[in-house]
Amino acid sequence: MSREYKNFIAGEWVDAASGERVENRNPADRDDLIGTFPKSGEAEVNAAVAAAREAYKKWRLVPAPIRGEILKKVGDIMTAHKEDIARVMTREMGKVLKETRGDTQEGIDTAYYAASETRRLFSHTTPSELPNKMNISFRMPIGVAGIITPWNFPMAIPTWKIFPALACGNTVVFKPASDTPATATTLVEILAEAGVPEGVVNIVHGSGSKVGTPLVAHPGVNVISFTGSSEAGKQIYSLAGSKLKRVSLELGGKNAVIVMPDADLDLALEGVLWGAFGTTGQRCTATSRLILHEAVHDKFVAMLVERANRLKVGNGLDESVEMGPCVNQGQLNVVEEYVQIGKGEGAQLVAGGSRLTGGAYDKGTFHQATIFTGVKPGMRLEQEEIFGPVLSVIKVQSFDEAVTVLNDTAYGLSSSIYTRDVNLAFKAVRDIECGITYVNGPTIGAEAHMPFGGMKETGNGHREGGWQVYEFFSETKTVYVDFSGKLQKAQIDTEQV
Ligand code: NAP
Ligand code: MG
Repeated sequence: MSREYKNFIAGEWVDAASGERVENRNPADRDDLIGTFPKSGEAEVNAAVAAAREAYKKWRLVPAPIRGEILKKVGDIMTAHKEDIARVMTREMGKVLKETRGDTQEGIDTAYYAASETRRLFSHTTPSELPNKMNISFRMPIGVAGIITPWNFPMAIPTWKIFPALACGNTVVFKPASDTPATATTLVEILAEAGVPEGVVNIVHGSGSKVGTPLVAHPGVNVISFTGSSEAGKQIYSLAGSKLKRVSLELGGKNAVIVMPDADLDLALEGVLWGAFGTTGQRCTATSRLILHEAVHDKFVAMLVERANRLKVGNGLDESVEMGPCVNQGQLNVVEEYVQIGKGEGAQLVAGGSRLTGGAYDKGTFHQATIFTGVKPGMRLEQEEIFGPVLSVIKVQSFDEAVTVLNDTAYGLSSSIYTRDVNLAFKAVRDIECGITYVNGPTIGAEAHMPFGGMKETGNGHREGGWQVYEFFSETKTVYVDFSGKLQKAQIDTEQV
């Protein structure tokens, strides 16, 4: 069943002035048209920002716990519709149902966490340096938040941004990824149903250049939260920087798992398979590199290849399928390109390496689970984000070498070590330059109440999730109350006692 999605501006579902529409098709079956969405531009962005600015006047004054009540209701509605949300998400971006249910659950967890956080938006009070004077600080909303999101977590990532923005008293203009307009629309419908007042959340569909750029540039937008590619992140950061806007960037990754000789290899195997081929490798936290100690290298590679070759690839709506398609033709082309790059660089292809064709595969953008061994530090295969089902194996001789190899990329998002040696585990936690380190777990598996984000070129130092994102979405107001009845001069009237 195909649907016409619309923009949601000032509480109304509206088309774009252009009248043009863009198709949203299933990457596992291009005959499956999920819907069409409006090709919007600057006019729609302007209207949405105006609505958000108007709504901000009242929304900022709604007591935070009342805003929290609405977010709790959002969680309840999402819970009731979890299965429907997951099915549409699988149809529009391809990952398997088990994962789209998880993506939805992360949104639900984020809603309940945000609701509770509205009763906890703590700030500090401290003694004054002067008598009969009180120092207090408050968390204030910032204004209008521009939210720009990718397609790989079409529910979870928008909720990570929109719910804390709303909890803190901001209003929102949301530009979702062009590959996942349906899930984004569902989220906005749920927010409206839960009682978010008109204009508080607006959605504008359209491309990064026609909608994203004007949103970032708009003087009425005070804060930008972006997750996506490093390339787009750099453009957004420069543009927003030239206007002195607050920006949070969550960008690429080149995440690695280290497996030491003392590791539980069966456990590590499950973790590496899940990390590398879950979401068809299209996670910012996907395991893209496997750093194997030479003592277990051959044995572990054999175990891994055997399992990777047996992974069932297909339409994610089939519960027995383990890996879905690449999200679109462009992403599949990138994967094929990197397989060629890897071969050209002299790495050995030991599993997969080709797109899948024949039968139902011809209707989608499927690629085999692919593994290269003999990958050397510094190869493009080892350094660049691929965002597909390609795992590079690097052989090392020691723990120190493993950590050096792991750290030697521009990115610093997620990482993992499998070892039973507690000393090595804690050294890894200390020395790995990543925002997230798992011990005896895969590189994926963020929980809603913990900070999420990366070091180095993965971002610009902010964190999503947990308590930290509430700091990003609020301003601090410092208040001095002098009840001495006279002029007291800080730093000057020092003779008090
Ligand atoms: P993308 O091409 O950067 O797109 C992300 C979003 O930004 C989309 O909504 C896109 O719109 C929009 N956009 C693109 N160029 C823009 C511009 N110049 N100005 C404003 N908006 C712009 O990334 P993607 O292909 O969707 O997602 C894959 C990337 O996201 C990977 O690099 C991955 O590592 C990263 N990612 C990072 C995290 C993290 O937390 N670190 C999480 C998930 C994904 P259109 O869809 O209309 O092009
Ligand atoms: Mg699609």
